[in-house]
Amino acid sequence: MATLATMEHKSGARSKARVERMRALVFRGPNQIGIESVPIPKPGYGEAVIRVTLTTICGTDVHILKGEYPVKPGLVIGHEPVGVIHELGPGVKDYAVGDRVLVGAITPCGQCEFCLSGKLSQCGGPIGGWKFGNTINGAQAEYLLVPNAQANLAKIPDELTDEQVVLLADIASTGFSASESAGVQFGDSVAIFAQGPIGLCATVGARLKGAGLVIAVESDPVRIAMSKRMGADVMIDYHKQDVTDAVRRLTRGRGVDVAIEALGMAQTFENAFGVLRPGGTLSSLGVYSGKLSIPLEPFAAGLGDHKIVTTLCPGGKERMRRLMELVRHSRVDLRPLLTHTFTLGDIESLRRIRQSEGWRAQSRDQALGYFAK
Ligand SMILES: [Zn+2]
Ligand SMILES: [Zn+2]
Repeated sequence: MATLATMEHKSGARSKARVERMRALVFRGPNQIGIESVPIPKPGYGEAVIRVTLTTICGTDVHILKGEYPVKPGLVIGHEPVGVIHELGPGVKDYAVGDRVLVGAITPCGQCEFCLSGKLSQCGGPIGGWKFGNTINGAQAEYLLVPNAQANLAKIPDELTDEQVVLLADIASTGFSASESAGVQFGDSVAIFAQGPIGLCATVGARLKGAGLVIAVESDPVRIAMSKRMGADVMIDYHKQDVTDAVRRLTRGRGVDVAIEALGMAQTFENAFGVLRPGGTLSSLGVYSGKLSIPLEPFAAGLGDHKIVTTLCPGGKERMRRLMELVRHSRVDLRPLLTHTFTLGDIESLRRIRQSEGWRAQSRDQALGYFAK
């Protein structure tokens, strides 16, 4: 018996010494990415490693690729993982290897002053909750190390497919949050500026929160069609009509209760502010560069009782559980937003497909497609 134990110990030591490897999409520098063979991560205390079964490509990844959002060369990018628990580190309770899990793009620790104040996305400091594909290796890989696993592994109900939940990690969580942060009330009028994936999810979220009138501002015909399908009541094509005039007509001259900015451009921010009623709320999802200004007239010179709220994607396992409940009980179906499917190995050719389609990133979260392993 002792010999057997020794032998087991020896073979265990040997397998530990052999580093298993996986394929991962590595950012090498601006406009340089590639699939590389890297070690499969090993979970430390409180961590887990999942085998990724499905993820997406986010507009943020495109910003990273172009060098517009700086991350360290050598980083694995991607932040929207669905997978199966491959290995659990010590200290993670109530999970088992093989459990199917959804992990939010934002992985709060659940213990710092920001988390305990309810600001999970700002875990540890500004934007600190966003770790995957930003400050630690991300999800466009065969395996992914999940930090603070106890706070972040959300078990997927058996009846839900990977496709039904993958957008909840970031795009839907962010899009829905616009109406939550604005405190949309039953019967509110809501105008959403831009209908990329985030804007489309903001449209879905406005309806979920009980908006009476959902107005979507968009010019791309494909997105206009999708926006109607996802529940917009009225479309305004800003190439064909004046948005401010159109919104005023639709709201009998008063302006909307809530305007959602889902693009991240200064002009759109100003336009969104321009359609607010007195006391209305501008809910901003965009990621901006340069300067923002507030138009003086709709701002009522500072006397209009307006609110501006911003939201970074809400994460953590309880957020994921709640969003999956919406899908499980057929309140939302985001599968129409999944337009293309690729394998991990196809990801570089996806870049070429995107270029040939003349596709360009306008907002932070214009996922064109997603890939399965
Ligand atoms: Zn994203
Ligand atoms: Zn925290």
